[in-house]
Amino acid sequence: MAGRVDLDGNPIKPITICMIGAGGFIGSHLCEKLMSETPHKVLAVDVSNDKIKHLLEPATLAWADRIEFHRINIKNDSRLEGLIKMADLTINLAAICTPADYNTRPLDTIYSNFIDALPVVKYCSENGKRLIHFSTCEIYGKTIGAFLPKDSPLRQDPAYYVLKEDTSPCIFGPIEKQRWSYACAKQLIERLIYAEGAENGLEFTIVRPFNWIGPRMDFIPGIDGPSEGVPRVLACFSNNLLRREPLKLVDGGESQRTFIYIKDAIEAVLLMIENPARANGHIFNVGNPNNEVTVRQLAEMMTKVYSKVSGESSLETPTIDVSSKEFYGEGYDDSDKRIPDMTIINKQLGMHLGTRKHPYGTCLNQHSPTNTGHMLMLSSRPCQSQ
Ligand code: NAD
Ligand code: UDP
Repeated sequence: MAGRVDLDGNPIKPITICMIGAGGFIGSHLCEKLMSETPHKVLAVDVSNDKIKHLLEPATLAWADRIEFHRINIKNDSRLEGLIKMADLTINLAAICTPADYNTRPLDTIYSNFIDALPVVKYCSENGKRLIHFSTCEIYGKTIGAFLPKDSPLRQDPAYYVLKEDTSPCIFGPIEKQRWSYACAKQLIERLIYAEGAENGLEFTIVRPFNWIGPRMDFIPGIDGPSEGVPRVLACFSNNLLRREPLKLVDGGESQRTFIYIKDAIEAVLLMIENPARANGHIFNVGNPNNEVTVRQLAEMMTKVYSKVSGESSLETPTIDVSSKEFYGEGYDDSDKRIPDMTIINKQLGMHLGTRKHPYGTCLNQHSPTNTGHMLMLSSRPCQSQ
């Protein structure tokens, strides 16, 4: 830890970070990284600490005096401003961010992603504090290419599908497709933060994660989450595999995603934290453009990996098709394809994200002694060959 320097060779001074949503998937990995590799202090704010318990107890842990948990619901707690004032930097991760909620709980989704984030932005701006705000790749909505005829050769042209922070439009569906309530709320808070930067000098960085995956992501319905809940695709498929059910492919599983392993993505966030001069005023895509699969291909890969680690043979019918209406209900819609342009982050933070293909097998088998969720189950027996 001693002698840490930033990308410009300057010594890094220990700072205090107010991390809101620290008890979630990304927050738990960021806390782990900050505790094990940096001297920084974390004021961890969340309504739950299940995923960071291993960092909080026992009190003899090497970093015990550098992390404090504050059980706070940011919707209605006056302690929030005090914590932001005590910190040098605020990182806001708090959100409702599972697609099954966007069309079924649109009000909660909009309040969580816009209204509840407003005081955080306001307190940072008024108190001259730096803010790193977590937005989403979903802000881009659908690609321009999605509106071209299916057989148009232009669909192969990256200009029609690569998503670039400073030039791509945000293309959402009609209002009745409530799926876009999340993207739209995230877009408006991005615009507000940007405007606070332009008009009031707020020092900000906006992060747009592209499908980060790894241990502790979401929950297994009925095991460590509500039995009727629908988590994101990795947990849905893990749940199906563990229950020996066919994996459900929504609308044929034709949508495409680029996935990135959480620990690679966290490296990027740490660089943003420790290099404010390079990160302030920027919006960063964080993903791996070379890791694209269709949802159907993801299902096939996970089935294969699960079979290998569990020793169980695959089902005769490993996948079934379901309509989005049946699976998510009325008002669901989908992003067709998500390939991040990585020019800005690679230039600003000297990263090489997206220059190599991540081995999916390794990713799905990552073992961490602190896993609490489905990834532990996927990785509980060692993979024989990678
Ligand atoms: P997560 O649901 O695991 O974590 C969010 C955390 O925020 C949870 O622990 C939750 O309890 C907490 N929270 C929510 N509302 C709160 C409130 N009112 N008060 C206090 N705490 C509250 O989600 P995640 O995957 O870790 O995502 C973190 C952020 O990154 C979100 O803003 C999300 O929109 C964004 N994001 C993530 C991904 C991804 O790939 N994981 C993709 C796009 C965007
Ligand atoms: N999906 C699926 N089966 C499932 C869960 C999700 O086919 O059991 C699809 C979903 O329709 C979307 C993709 O997988 O096309 C990714 O969904 P996820 O919930 O992970 O979030 P998103 O990437 O859309 O934000």
